[in-house]
Amino acid sequence: MSETVKYVLDESRIPKAWYNLVADLPRPPAPVLHPGTLQPVGPDDLAPLFPMALIAQEVSTEREIEIPAPVRTVYRQWRPAPLHRARRLERALDTPARIFYKYEGVSPAGSHKPNTAVAQAFYNKEAGVRRLTTETGAGQWGSALAYAGATFGLDVQVFMVRVSFDQKPYRKAAMEAWGARCVASPSRETNAGRAVLAEQPDTTGSLGIAISEAVEVAAQHDDTKYALGSVLNHVLLHQTVIGLEAMAQMEMADAYPDIVVGCTGGGSNFAGIAFPFIGAGLRGGAKPRVIACEPAACPSLTRGRYAYDFGDTGHLTPLVKMHTLGSGFIPPGFHAGGLRYHGMAPLVSLVQELGLIESRAYPQIACFEAGLQFARSEGIIPAPEANHAVRGAIDEALACKRDGQARTILFNLCGHGNFDMQAYIDFQAGRLTDSPYDESALQSALAALPKVA
Ligand SMILES: *Cc1c(COP(=O)(O)O)cnc(C)c1O
Repeated sequence: MSETVKYVLDESRIPKAWYNLVADLPRPPAPVLHPGTLQPVGPDDLAPLFPMALIAQEVSTEREIEIPAPVRTVYRQWRPAPLHRARRLERALDTPARIFYKYEGVSPAGSHKPNTAVAQAFYNKEAGVRRLTTETGAGQWGSALAYAGATFGLDVQVFMVRVSFDQKPYRKAAMEAWGARCVASPSRETNAGRAVLAEQPDTTGSLGIAISEAVEVAAQHDDTKYALGSVLNHVLLHQTVIGLEAMAQMEMADAYPDIVVGCTGGGSNFAGIAFPFIGAGLRGGAKPRVIACEPAACPSLTRGRYAYDFGDTGHLTPLVKMHTLGSGFIPPGFHAGGLRYHGMAPLVSLVQELGLIESRAYPQIACFEAGLQFARSEGIIPAPEANHAVRGAIDEALACKRDGQARTILFNLCGHGNFDMQAYIDFQAGRLTDSPYDESALQSALAALPKVA
């Protein structure tokens, strides 16, 4: 008997529409506010940053939004992504649980991020945009957008958080291989970057600062727009291809999840796997438990406040209502760079407020232990971010062993770790530590939240 079972869909089964959870929620998301007036923003306020098609998706209440044919054509390069049954892992854990994982590491950039990068590049190209700016932390989003820019003939400029720029030369090399320009942030190319450097010349940078830089360049140039790799409604929307495909594949396996697990940085891959299942539950179907797994060092869902906050450090972005640690919060260093954002997607925050999901925070060593156990049984080395979902799935499988229940667990393996081997080197050398975040720094970042009536 073969050890792993892989469920593969034909190309014709790539979803024809993305799924918009807003259509099925019992209450609408809170409006996005203008940073100056604190009034709800209109489409014109966002037009300097995003093409109209994406702004329309950001506020859409339609359940299904058609995926344009050219986007589906590009998706065909790696979609439908495989769904695997983790039989060897099940045996290693000696659990009665059935564990399935959707594998998004098969994309050219090695993660789920091209699902939205390709769509965003397409709509920008259609709108006559010549260049996209963006920020990147660990480098996954920058490489996904660089790849998508190459596919649709757009220039891409990436502001990469200084500490990752210095530590992850391969990610920068990948972006450059796809033709993008990658500079360390803070840079001397923007007012936001120069202001930070004037005060802290040796800063390691942060995602919030890099966002300020990318937004500033886009706002100042007519031919340039900005692309964000997570958090926003339209980004989560594009990621729902993950869960929609997984639904069809679970059907092939003659199974339905009792538990759905994903890791959360800004919330996009989690929304991608979970929202189609949550929506089916809201429409009267089975309601799996849905679990968001985040890093203990940057715990926005489990420790943040549900409040209006800025998306960036420089306070150039609109205010969104989300679980936030405060835009001034800088998490301690840890290896899942893609999970170091101070806020959570407004839609993921809302579904937590509505009691539709659970959240859990895990320290990094426990996540790397899970990642190695996964690699040794299933063969794929997960991205450090994905290890949080692996930890969550393994913990649920161990709970099944304790109570003797054969539950079905589905998790999203959002990317491979082939560019992140330094993290595994450090872990295996015993050099990783679980540094807690600074509670007083969190309290002062929360005290500085904007006052919104
Ligand atoms: C970017 C990234 C994340 C975090 O972003 P989400 O929007 O929360 O998905 C997680 N895993 C991988 C592999 C990433 O590249």
